[in-house]
Amino acid sequence: MSTALIDSCPCNHSTESEALPIIAARLVVKFEATTREFVAASDQNLGHLETQIQQQAQELLRQATERGAQQKADQTPPRCPGCQQELTRRSADHARTFESRFGPLTIKRARGYCRRCHQWRFPADAALGLEETAGYSPAVQEMAALVVSKMPVGEATAVLERLTGVKLPRATLDREARRQGQRAQELRRQLDQKTTQGLVPALQPELTLEPYQMVIQIDAWNIRERDDWGRTQALRRKGKEPERWHWVYTGTCFRLDHRGQTAGGRPVITQRGFVATRQGIDGLREQLHAEALRRGLGQAAGALVIADGAVWIWRLADDRFPEARQRLDFYHAVQHLAAVGRALYGEDKEGLKKWLKPLVKQLKNESAVKVVRQLEELLAELPSGAPSSEAVAKEINYLKEHEERMDYRAARRRGEPIGSGPIESTCRQSQCRFKRTGQYWSPVGDEALLSLEMFWRNDRWHLLFPHSRPSDPSKN
Ligand SMILES: [Zn+2]
Repeated sequence: MSTALIDSCPCNHSTESEALPIIAARLVVKFEATTREFVAASDQNLGHLETQIQQQAQELLRQATERGAQQKADQTPPRCPGCQQELTRRSADHARTFESRFGPLTIKRARGYCRRCHQWRFPADAALGLEETAGYSPAVQEMAALVVSKMPVGEATAVLERLTGVKLPRATLDREARRQGQRAQELRRQLDQKTTQGLVPALQPELTLEPYQMVIQIDAWNIRERDDWGRTQALRRKGKEPERWHWVYTGTCFRLDHRGQTAGGRPVITQRGFVATRQGIDGLREQLHAEALRRGLGQAAGALVIADGAVWIWRLADDRFPEARQRLDFYHAVQHLAAVGRALYGEDKEGLKKWLKPLVKQLKNESAVKVVRQLEELLAELPSGAPSSEAVAKEINYLKEHEERMDYRAARRRGEPIGSGPIESTCRQSQCRFKRTGQYWSPVGDEALLSLEMFWRNDRWHLLFPHSRPSDPSKN
């Protein structure tokens, strides 16, 4: 880069070859003028000054970044970014323009051919973190991923421009976020693979003096999808009901000794792993297993799976966490008791309440066996074949099937959770995000979006965007 001092162009734009200190000095003069106007203006508050100073500084920031990018490009060795092979048939000065945090940047870089990969390569692009096909700097890639995983695309476009000045049309933003989501998905796959092969140490490096339990909670919820939108009538004419609801499988895991309280007495879990996937039960099983390993399953004194009564969940637990104890979520058990009550009392809400209360207490403080025995005695007194007796028998079967999983008294004595509150709050948060109007993606898009969300929630965002600093997990 030449540092020759050339007159600035009369329109007040600085020219390419001007030295940064000159641009900076001119900017300071501008700041001072703006400040004088601001001080004199009766209708401006600090917000006006903040906005103007930022806008005026933009060109200096853009140029500083562009020059830095060019210097790095110039110094990048002519090796293949894929295989490190020295490139042949090299030529220089291939210009590329891309969008950055501070506006469009143009750099010139070298190109060469890799005889091993049989491809033309631009080593500088890889060194700068530019993708082959998309024209965005790493900071803009991160912005797109973050805003789209937090809000509907239409809003994201406006919010992004308002807060950062970066203008990405809706379709472009959507495409870039998906691209980042797919990258997240691939990185997740690699991380999970390394974890399950024992190549990565568990997340908790501190010495564990006290033995701890690992709690794993599993659930699933529905999201609506737009794959059949506009085809509803056509499908119905063929006698098919368009399928629009699809399962998202979720899990969370945490160490019992990472449970605590805020200053205000609210229960919190300081470090917790999250999984959410559209890749079915198989996807959940593998991802949750890897997440639990990362959170210290391998070093745990024991593990505990808490969930509702869905068959697939216990199958998954038997399969992937065979050593773990299993517990039926207390509130699900209570719902089944209440179903017995409704069969007996019908519309008599007071009667139902009076009947249910002591049973719930017994279930919590005494034993499930005792509760089930009372229900069986009750059933024996009902006229056989009556609809109420059928309903009661069904609920007794359910409770008997899970008798072993209703060790609530022992759980409470050991200070273990009896309900799956944490996973349900995970679901609520994600559902809230997914169920907002206009936010239904395709299955592929959903998985990409979920991957991004999980990198964020699991404090692994910096693995995806290395320029961002790792966050403090205790602040979650
Ligand atoms: Zn190569």
